Amino acid sequence: MPELDDRLRLLRRQARGWAAELRPYALDLDRDPDVVLRLLDAPAVTCAAHLQIPAAFNPTPLVLAGERFHLTAARERVVFCEEIARGDLGMMLALPGASMSGVLVAAIGDRAQQEWFYGRLLERPTWTFFALTEPGGGTDAAGLRTRATESADGSGWRLTGRKRYISNALRASVGVVFHRTGDGPLGLGAALVDTSSAGFTAVAVPTLGVRGAQLGALTLDAVPITDGQLLGRHLSPMRRGSWGWQRTFNLLRPTVAAMAVGLAQAACDYVREHRRALRPAERDALARTQGEIEGVRRLTRLAAVAVDSDSGSGHLASAAKLRATRLAADVSRWALRCFGPGARLDQPLLDKFARDAAALEFMEGTGNVQRLAVAAALDRGAFAGYPPGVDGPAVDR
Ligand SMILES: Cc1cc2nc3c(=O)[nH]c(=O)nc-3n(C[C@H](O)[C@H](O)[C@H](O)COP(=O)(O)OP(=O)(O)OC[C@H]3O[C@@H](n4cnc5c(N)ncnc54)[C@H](O)[C@@H]3O)c2cc1C
Repeated sequence: MPELDDRLRLLRRQARGWAAELRPYALDLDRDPDVVLRLLDAPAVTCAAHLQIPAAFNPTPLVLAGERFHLTAARERVVFCEEIARGDLGMMLALPGASMSGVLVAAIGDRAQQEWFYGRLLERPTWTFFALTEPGGGTDAAGLRTRATESADGSGWRLTGRKRYISNALRASVGVVFHRTGDGPLGLGAALVDTSSAGFTAVAVPTLGVRGAQLGALTLDAVPITDGQLLGRHLSPMRRGSWGWQRTFNLLRPTVAAMAVGLAQAACDYVREHRRALRPAERDALARTQGEIEGVRRLTRLAAVAVDSDSGSGHLASAAKLRATRLAADVSRWALRCFGPGARLDQPLLDKFARDAAALEFMEGTGNVQRLAVAAALDRGAFAGYPPGVDGPAVDR
């Protein structure tokens, strides 16, 4: 990294092939998020459902030319997610599997919780949800109000609260709910929840972009959970709360950056394929855009390597996410301009790319949140030595 080794090239080739199979359904999924339910036999979907399950729990990983892939490492996830998002970001977010919850369960779940969670995913293609954001402010995660209170009969806990903008909320059968059991940072926790539990309801939240992700709003009305569902019960309150969450978000952030790079590349590819007779100024703009994409791809891969070696080190991931999401928005809007005034209507796929790109800004912390993280890292000198090889050879694509 940032150049791919033979192993990661194998993964990229496979993901690129799957992305090509999924692309024809992109606009259908945009119109109807249930389209993914009709693709359950597609190899991309069945295989994705088993990815991101740690080796200890997954007897059927992806095997390519004798190499086993679990996608538990960020450097594998960025390669896979960039390619699938290059096919279609909506489809990437609509795939079943461990997704964000899987990373949290791997980080702070105990053995029994991991067996239960990953076991559910191995039974059949299963969607998961990750419920952190609440109405009125997702950025202030530590200010969340969903409560877990001990039930009067001592049989466990009751979860009560509301969540909003939760990906795959309506399709998921299992996921995690972030809550508090007490005041202050040590009162924060996360619990495994089965969506068939009493008191759990999910309704769709209409969106302009990434409709495939089918965002939802959750109401938790005294949802019963047991001690065994409280994630990280074997850890100190410090490690199961914001400390553990922060590490999980650091691991996830390069993946969002990679999706943004994939979307930017898709918009650039679209111009190359559909505007063959480019004027010289447009050719220059295309070359410049491709150069920018390669630079951000390089940064994203560096960020993945950095969090794989130290999950506490998230500043490169923040920088990558910030740059990549802005790039996706800029490139998709530039691509639309290449097709003139009626492009939003004449080029529906490109219009969709631009709508999807706008949503990336909010995933895994908004641009402002990443700016604050980058500024704090600059202040403590964490970027010393970066960017390495910025003037080096172009990253292969
Ligand atoms: C496609 C998509 C998928 C998502 N999936 C999930 C999911 O699966 N699970 C989940 O829990 N959430 C999910 N979200 C929600 C996402 O995490 C939130 O939208 C995000 O955290 C921002 O929260 P908010 O929308 O409430 O905005 P707010 O937190 O209300 O922020 C509004 C604006 O104020 C700015 N702002 C807020 N605080 C500060 C500050 N201190 N300094 C400077 N600026 C600030 C923000 O940058 C933003 O521009 C998803 C969102 C999208 C768009």
